[in-house]
Amino acid sequence: MRSLLFAANWKMHVGPAAARAYIDQFLAGYQAQPGRRVWFFPPATTLHTVSQLITGRADLAAGAQNVHWEPKGAFTGEISVPLAVEAGARAALIGHSERRHVFGETDAETGLKVRAVLAGGLVPVLCVGEKLEQREAGETLAVVQRQLAGALEGLEAEALRKVIIAYEPVWAIGTGKNATPRDAAQVHADIRGWLTQRGATSPVILYGGSVNLKNIAELVAERELDGVLVGGASLEAATWLQLVSTPVS
Ligand code: PEP
Repeated sequence: MRSLLFAANWKMHVGPAAARAYIDQFLAGYQAQPGRRVWFFPPATTLHTVSQLITGRADLAAGAQNVHWEPKGAFTGEISVPLAVEAGARAALIGHSERRHVFGETDAETGLKVRAVLAGGLVPVLCVGEKLEQREAGETLAVVQRQLAGALEGLEAEALRKVIIAYEPVWAIGTGKNATPRDAAQVHADIRGWLTQRGATSPVILYGGSVNLKNIAELVAERELDGVLVGGASLEAATWLQLVSTPVS
């Protein structure tokens, strides 16, 4: 049976009240399906609400969109892994392209965050992906490998096995332009090779970038994709319900 993970990145949208209505609608319409997991990455202020509402559903989880690598301290505006855990997180996004390219997060910082997230018992979802000019210059694999190395080089195989990767080409995020399943599959295969060479077994690799109801069936039909990370098309419960219910052969 094919396992698939559908992850919703709500970015800076959906407060606690809207999340209550969203998750109520979602739970009323979504039955657990074998091999299928659905994860939500709400804003920090909404994390506790979502995690409470989905308690008891092993196929559903909530996660943090970002964490600091220190467990506590004078870091105004940041949240730590222990704070995210207390709010019910089971995973954390690391190195999302908006963190890297809007807030200047470095490869070295993603490495610190991966280690902190693993130490705190959460699943790190490391986002990697090239900018348009890098793709056009034929640098996609080099960029992605540099990001993988920056965050993961030196981890023991046992730790590496817990990491999920989201391949998200920057030019595809929020632009309406998605990578073709074939393009994504080539990068996924390269990422899979990088991870397995270092001891990972059956790595989970998601695709993200303008996934929507029109392209989801074609994307998940590609067996290199173990699921998707979705921004815009995850913001309405009705659309997300349809998207996560996409049949696969
Ligand atoms: C994202 O934020 O990770 C993302 C893929 O966004 P979108 O689906 O809107 O392109």
